[in-house]
Amino acid sequence: MFYYKNNELYVEDMKVADIALEFKTPLYIYSKSHFETQYKKLDEKITRRHLICFALKANSNLAVINTFAKLGAGADVVSAGEIFRAKKAGLDTTKIVFSGVGKTPDEIKYALENNILMFNIESFEELEEIEKVACLLNKTAPVSFRVNPNVDPKTHPYISTGLKKNKFGISHTQIVDAYKKASQMKHISIKGIQFHIGSQLTDVSPFFEAQIKVAHIMRELLSLGIKLDIIDIGGGLGVVYENEKEPDLDQYANFINEAFKDFPDSMIVLEPGRFLVANGGIFVTKVLYRKQNEGKNFIIVDGAMNDLIRPSLYDAYHKIEPVVKKNAKKITADIVGPICESGDFFARSREIDSLERNDLVSIFSSGAYGFTMASNYNSRCKPAEVLVDKDKVKLVRARETFEDLIRGETI
Ligand SMILES: *Cc1c(COP(=O)(O)O)cnc(C)c1O
Repeated sequence: MFYYKNNELYVEDMKVADIALEFKTPLYIYSKSHFETQYKKLDEKITRRHLICFALKANSNLAVINTFAKLGAGADVVSAGEIFRAKKAGLDTTKIVFSGVGKTPDEIKYALENNILMFNIESFEELEEIEKVACLLNKTAPVSFRVNPNVDPKTHPYISTGLKKNKFGISHTQIVDAYKKASQMKHISIKGIQFHIGSQLTDVSPFFEAQIKVAHIMRELLSLGIKLDIIDIGGGLGVVYENEKEPDLDQYANFINEAFKDFPDSMIVLEPGRFLVANGGIFVTKVLYRKQNEGKNFIIVDGAMNDLIRPSLYDAYHKIEPVVKKNAKKITADIVGPICESGDFFARSREIDSLERNDLVSIFSSGAYGFTMASNYNSRCKPAEVLVDKDKVKLVRARETFEDLIRGETI
């Protein structure tokens, strides 16, 4: 949905340069069609009964959540704030799964009041807390346990979550005990099992390795009389940022069918985040200044690490191109923001068309973990977000103002 025509970048039927002129920079631009296409692609591949729960932390703008909600999606949330967002976006709260290692009692209460699909429990103490809160509310809490299958997802260490050294889930050696304990509790209703081994997996075989382990646990549970209605296989499907190969969705779907063939009645829950939104967004920023320090080129733009932190945080690669290509000669430069940190860069030693002041550049694949990780560091106002639908563009989050910066503060 992002393409060049006559050397000008378009999103769907609109020129990016026109949008940037109207809404200023720095700016996030999303393509609604891309979101819908990704969702349908995955939805059609999974042949078993399933529910796609969009992982909101990837992009929790209300308009984005609403786009998926309209297609029938549920949500994977990691805080009560995300439940609040899902509700505001018109998503059916009975399709919400609640993940995370540190749910507070208030968050548990809020989730129970909103009748979510289930809690993905990550510790024995959390189980006890959920039982306690459910008892106080005189409710039954639907739960599954997140198992840590100790599988190497072969991805960046910061986004690897299914190894025993990671903080996530309950060890596969203790998981059966967790179910036994839960089955004795009055206010707990056992629904399923969940795992999530990491993010940005382009090879789907580690998923299969984890699925096999989970199916093994399910057979053990069945022998104890514990039957699970839901198999939640987490998120983690990767996308192409640079030259990775796309994950093979046919193989992914086959693996699911194969691993869980003994459990044909259980519903599969998927929790994709990045896969649905990463390549549906660009971050547009404008060249402020250029300079050379001892032969090294710097291009200073008006966007910064507070707007898009992935390059700084994960050393992530994002393709960067001018919004209007002028067939300029190539230079090698660092593309950096105005923040007072050496880590404030979008690319280092990158070959790029030589740019001039006020030229617009697009940082691609910024639809996931872009705006949701934005902060106000250096008292910078968070950027605006717009959603393009064919030849229409809508402001879906206004650029912050100085007043937004100090909201709630007093002297
Ligand atoms: C972050 C997260 C996801 C989404 O991960 P992606 O790699 O964006 O698909 C899904 N489930 C859980 C529990 C998560 O923490």
